[in-house]
Amino acid sequence: MTRDDAYVKDDHCPNCGRDVDSATNVDDDDLHPTPGDVSCCIGCAAVLTYQDDMTMRQLTPEEFLALPADVRTQLASMAAAVKQVHEDHPCGSTTS
Ligand SMILES: [Zn+2]
Repeated sequence: MTRDDAYVKDDHCPNCGRDVDSATNVDDDDLHPTPGDVSCCIGCAAVLTYQDDMTMRQLTPEEFLALPADVRTQLASMAAAVKQVHEDHPCGSTTS
């Protein structure tokens, strides 16, 4: 994966502070996030949204509930996968 400054700024997760400098679309690597899109932090599984300046903030519970059901389901699956990786690799290593 390569970094593209045109669509993701150096930022940090507002929940855990993990540095963020890239994003991957789970359905299509060629699609880049735009303001209002949602994401899941790979550090803590927080549900985030891109603001107009492409920095991120945590989604409010009301905003999460207003998302389409399929998006909520996909985010929940991503969050569960992130949590499972951290349980399987508690030292932070994702290699075996
Ligand atoms: Zn985080």
